[in-house]
Amino acid sequence: MNIKNCRSCGKIFNYVSGPFTCPACREQMEQKFQEVKAYIRDNRGVSIQEVAEACDVDVAQIRQWLREDRLEVTEDSPIRLTCEGCGAFIRSGRYCEKCKNGAASGFQELINENKQAQRRVVEDQKDKSGPKMRYL
Ligand SMILES: [Zn+2]
Ligand SMILES: [Zn+2]
Repeated sequence: MNIKNCRSCGKIFNYVSGPFTCPACREQMEQKFQEVKAYIRDNRGVSIQEVAEACDVDVAQIRQWLREDRLEVTEDSPIRLTCEGCGAFIRSGRYCEKCKNGAASGFQELINENKQAQRRVVEDQKDKSGPKMRYL
C-alpha cells in the first residue's frame, strides 16, 4: 500500500498512479474539467480569467489543461497560449503545428539546403575552371 495525503483536500488515500489527489478529488476535478470545457464551448470569446471565475477553477489549472492538450480554445478566443518553440499563438498543447511537424523535417530541410549550397559551390568552380581549361 502506498498511502499519500491528497494534495487537494489533505485526506489520506491509497495512491496508485497519476496526480497526488484522492479519487474523490479526482472525480471532482474531472467534473470541473467538463464544466470548463462546456463553458468555453458555449461562451466563445471568454477570457481565461472569466472561465476561472465562472467555473470556480484556478487559472493555473485551466492553463494546465490547455497545455495537456485536453482543452482547446476557439479561433477567436482571447485565451492565448504561446508555442514553447517559437512563441507563436496556439490553441492547445505546448507547440504550434509548425514546431510539432517541423522539429524533424525542418532540420532535414536545413541539411538538404546545405547540401545544395555545397553542390552549387562545386558547380560554380567547375564553370569557372571549365571554359578556361579549354582555352588553355
Ligand atoms: Zn482529496
Ligand atoms: Zn512554434
